[in-house]
Amino acid sequence: MMIAGILLAALVLPKAPMTVVIQTVRGEARVPVRWDQSFGPVLPAPQLLAALGAEARIGAGWAEVTVGPQVFRFLLGAPLYQLDGTLRPLAGSASLRRDTLELPIQFVSEMLPRAFGRRFRYDARAARLVDNAPAPAAALAAAKPAADPNRLPNGLRKGHVVTIDAGHGGVDPGNPGIFFPNGLKEKDVTLQLSRLLRDELRERGVKVVMTRARDTLIDIRDRGAYCTEECDLFLSIHVNSLPKRPGYTRVRGFETYYLAEAKTEDAARVARMENEAIRFEDPKNAEEQLNGLDFIMKDLQLNEHLREAVRAAELVQSYLQESHTGPDKGVKQGNLIVLNTARRPAILVEVGFSTNPEDAKLMTTRASQLNLVSSLADAVVAYLLEYERKVGQGAATSAGARAGQK
Ligand SMILES: [Zn+2]
Repeated sequence: MMIAGILLAALVLPKAPMTVVIQTVRGEARVPVRWDQSFGPVLPAPQLLAALGAEARIGAGWAEVTVGPQVFRFLLGAPLYQLDGTLRPLAGSASLRRDTLELPIQFVSEMLPRAFGRRFRYDARAARLVDNAPAPAAALAAAKPAADPNRLPNGLRKGHVVTIDAGHGGVDPGNPGIFFPNGLKEKDVTLQLSRLLRDELRERGVKVVMTRARDTLIDIRDRGAYCTEECDLFLSIHVNSLPKRPGYTRVRGFETYYLAEAKTEDAARVARMENEAIRFEDPKNAEEQLNGLDFIMKDLQLNEHLREAVRAAELVQSYLQESHTGPDKGVKQGNLIVLNTARRPAILVEVGFSTNPEDAKLMTTRASQLNLVSSLADAVVAYLLEYERKVGQGAATSAGARAGQK
């Protein structure tokens, strides 16, 4: 009976939105919706609660979310929550995913409007939750100090900088993009995606440095230098491809690399392919590259960033699932020269395979390009939020944080 009910609901309800807009007196924040196999549409609690000025406490088997005077107690992984001492049913469930609390979409679409009466209104068609609490809301003020002027509506500290590296360029076309339309090559698609990602990140209040914003070749050993002390993350955008062999056009999906010795033959292949750009560059410098990784792995600074890079790569993979129709090929490690020289956490995304027709279409159609970069931008924001919580003082690279400001 219950299963039939869920199936019916899935048939009758409109498709879950890609993002939910949270509108408060502090501004608007977009929170990505993830479709969970077991629990249906879910929202990442860190971003949602930051936008609402709310807080969560996680215990063994439960999570407590406090919004103003109300306390919602969710049973993790079960379709139940407790409010005002009463246990109530839920369509979805709250759960932990890679240490991040996720809340069912009903929290914004039903629970908040019901629990607060007029304060919250949810517009299902626009996927928008409006918080009508006046500023400064007595309820909000009780739960949280006044809105921090150094914070953006999405909860991020101001002043984050991300370097976007559009792979290849100029005389280096990257892979030939056999299923791309109009003779587009890898270098063109990485540039398109990088520009769109730049716009998405700026919209989210993140400053962006581009290694290139036009069709030009930047030496891959120089690209990392664009991510200096100021920069929080170096993100290199590439397109995968396979050499011709039986069935090669069927392989598709997305994967994200951080710098370490390649562990699998496939990862080594990607590293060789992306490192090949070196042949377009000054031959005098080519030799010193050969032992680049040995040298770099002894570099303490890079090792410190390894954990962060792995986490950023995990979040990119996790968020790309929302907008990518191909399989999640996972987080991988590879000896990628372009990641060598960044002095901050650095990752490389292979957004899809140009040797697969579906992936090629996904990466070159404007609507799906926008979805892909929106997921990438959401992943970057989620990473920065986590990073802020970890260092405990907001954007470590912002001037305020450097001055020791809490
Ligand atoms: Zn490439």
